[in-house]
Amino acid sequence: MSDTEPPAARPSRLDPEKVSRASRSPKRVGERCGAPPGAYRPRVDPGRCEGKADCVAVCPHDVFEIGPIDEAVFRDLPLRARLKVWVHGKITAHTPHADACQACGLCVAACPELAITLVSAD
Ligand code: SF4
Ligand code: SF4
Repeated sequence: MSDTEPPAARPSRLDPEKVSRASRSPKRVGERCGAPPGAYRPRVDPGRCEGKADCVAVCPHDVFEIGPIDEAVFRDLPLRARLKVWVHGKITAHTPHADACQACGLCVAACPELAITLVSAD
């Protein structure tokens, strides 16, 4: 690639089937859809998350990344949750782009572990 070429666009991580399923789910909190970016943010319960990335597959704003759980967070979990997280390889969902969240609710509906809640950023 030459210096003048724009960088290649990041491939979409969306899974259309999972998006469609989540958008029809009664668990979706869609009444807040279209909130200004950053007004709400997803909060992931690290004791529930199994790191299988359904949230990544449905978020239209690339809010989530899957990666190793912070050791201090891991140590603070109750024993039962620590065991669960350990069994799943000590990986979890992080929200490095939480400021981009527009509260569509798809991640809440898609998470099989009920690990995500949307919270007001106020
Ligand atoms: S969908 Fe839920 S359990 Fe799966 S990685 Fe995302 S937050 Fe964790
Ligand atoms: S509620 Fe926010 S974090 Fe969840 S899928 Fe929608 S934009 Fe992404």
